[in-house]
Amino acid sequence: MPAETRLFLCRSDNYGVLLHDPASGATASIDAPEAAPIEAALKATGWKLTDILVTHHHADHTDGIRPLKDKFKCRVVAPSAEAGKIPAVDETVAEGDTVKVGTLLANVIETPGHTLGHIAYWFHADALAFVGDTLFSIGCGRVIEGTPETMWQSLLKLRALPDDTLVYCGHEYTAANIRFAKTIEPGNPDLAAREKEVARLLAAGQATIPARLGAEKKANVFLRADVPAVAATVGLAGQPAAVVFAEVRARKNRF
Ligand SMILES: [Zn+2]
Repeated sequence: MPAETRLFLCRSDNYGVLLHDPASGATASIDAPEAAPIEAALKATGWKLTDILVTHHHADHTDGIRPLKDKFKCRVVAPSAEAGKIPAVDETVAEGDTVKVGTLLANVIETPGHTLGHIAYWFHADALAFVGDTLFSIGCGRVIEGTPETMWQSLLKLRALPDDTLVYCGHEYTAANIRFAKTIEPGNPDLAAREKEVARLLAAGQATIPARLGAEKKANVFLRADVPAVAATVGLAGQPAAVVFAEVRARKNRF
């Protein structure tokens, strides 16, 4: 049976998301930004929380873990490299490991850069990827603990996933990301198409995620640092993609 998801806002601009396996009844919260909205989503769906899958240690992804663990006795799965910074961890995982939510199966992909131990969970059979703060729609996370080179390599790993993958990220930043991306690729027709789609979604009060990875590959400038025209625009024609990525990311920081 296919996985079901429920997306909702937490805090100010964080997304919470529940992943439900109808076959077994298992339900995972991807990260736990805040307990109350997660509990409200569980109540609305009638799903029972069995697991929390953590992408990285930042408080706006982990503050809800302790109260949810106390209430639901759920399993907490976290990246092994950051387990010491995350509360109530039961299991640690690293690159190449698999995690089950009921009958749903995820591959763990290490995506360092935003934090050094950051991981993504890819549910291959369900074409779902939960990428935390590594990849956003038309954006990427700030490179806080790693280097631009490590972040670029992480983005390449996510870019290698199939085009039909639905990407769930940690924040609703899409509109601002598009405003920035247009400064680098003003003539990109796929970016223009995404801008229209996002305007329509936001006007209707809807979330702009999940994003389809195939569309992100064409429109997200942070996945396109190896496109010669992008390198040329930032004055780095012929330079390695990681150098171009670093410049694009630095411009976004100043934007
Ligand atoms: Zn973060």
